[in-house]
Amino acid sequence: MNFHEYQAKELFAKYKIPVPNGEVARTPDEAVAAAKSLGCDMWVVKAQVHAGGRGKAGGVKLAKTLDEVKQYATDMLGMKIQTYQTGGLALPVNEVLITEAADIEQEIYLSLLLDRANQCLSFVASAEGGVEIEEVAKTNPEKIHTIQVDNTEGLFPYACRKAGFAMGMNAKQVRQLTHIMMQMHKMYVELDLSLIEVNPLIIDDKQDVIALDAKISSDDNAHFRHKEFAAMRDITQEDPAEAKAHEHDLNYIKLDGNIACMVNGAGLAMATMDVIKLKGGDPANFLDVGGGATAERVAIAFKIILSDPNVKSILVNIFGGIVRCDLIANGIISAIKEVGVEVPIVVRLEGTNVNEGKKILNESGLAVISADNLDDAANKAVAAVGA
Ligand code: GDP
Ligand code: MG
Repeated sequence: MNFHEYQAKELFAKYKIPVPNGEVARTPDEAVAAAKSLGCDMWVVKAQVHAGGRGKAGGVKLAKTLDEVKQYATDMLGMKIQTYQTGGLALPVNEVLITEAADIEQEIYLSLLLDRANQCLSFVASAEGGVEIEEVAKTNPEKIHTIQVDNTEGLFPYACRKAGFAMGMNAKQVRQLTHIMMQMHKMYVELDLSLIEVNPLIIDDKQDVIALDAKISSDDNAHFRHKEFAAMRDITQEDPAEAKAHEHDLNYIKLDGNIACMVNGAGLAMATMDVIKLKGGDPANFLDVGGGATAERVAIAFKIILSDPNVKSILVNIFGGIVRCDLIANGIISAIKEVGVEVPIVVRLEGTNVNEGKKILNESGLAVISADNLDDAANKAVAAVGA
């Protein structure tokens, strides 16, 4: 789950990571009241959407008067923002964050993420902050510093100091950076996060190091340990089909292709997508309906799959281990009848009661294309798209 900047900054403040004072507002009047209560004479009005790159899209504005605060808040609230990080969606702005404006001397990049290749958490830091870090990595890879955190021993202050000096910081700044990195690591572990990104971390006119922007994602699998996160979820920022799937405990991720997949089990779903690719097709989604693939869940899954207008065929690949294939077949038939599927459906069943399951599908009178194995199913699903 992703968090808004203002939520991330509230969590930063709890962990004593310095952020500019700020308040969130949902109307222009609230924005003015927030600006007044901050008691400064320059503010930044920031659109709250789950993406960076807002600056370039008109979602970050410097205001010199309360009238400007009101104007920018009026402009931003209700607008939709699309940036290179929104994955093709235009995200609605329902809230703005009003912060006191900082005087920036330098913008630094700092993030902490799960480094799968090295099987640990790693910090990524660069004195070239504020810009797209992917660009720096391409053009000036030597300006990116990676600090791996030992899984057993944890993060040592000396590793943070080394990174600070490598970025040209003075002793005071290095001390502040070390505190920020140690606290980021503590927060990441305690809150079961999957990403903390501060871009930019700034050095201000008083030579202090402050988190000017904040982006956090958490690991949904650990949400049972963080009940407070449920209230912080903002589904207006999520893909509607993915949000609906989440509501029904279905693992759905929309992709760009046109062959929809409905599979039980994450590993089988990955294998199914691989085989579709191998056969020259493109999967429209990842969908794991889980072990208990009941008729009801299958029907919801069909609805979610079909909400994507790109879908030209559906490949159902179910292994009847815990569930029986005849039950699945009946589930598929009632779901098709309920939802009214108009694209070709290829079904591959395997496992307990597979023959009964196939018989039910063949005798249903519905246009279901039966497949004998995954290879056959993928060929048929790819062919169905071309037809
Ligand atoms: P993003 O574009 O969504 O990543 O939003 P950021 O919060 O990172 O802001 C974008 C840019 O706006 C920053 O890189 C800064 O250059 C500028 N900016 C944001 N806040 C301030 C501020 O308080 N003072 C000044 N001078 N510039 C700011
Ligand atoms: Mg930023």
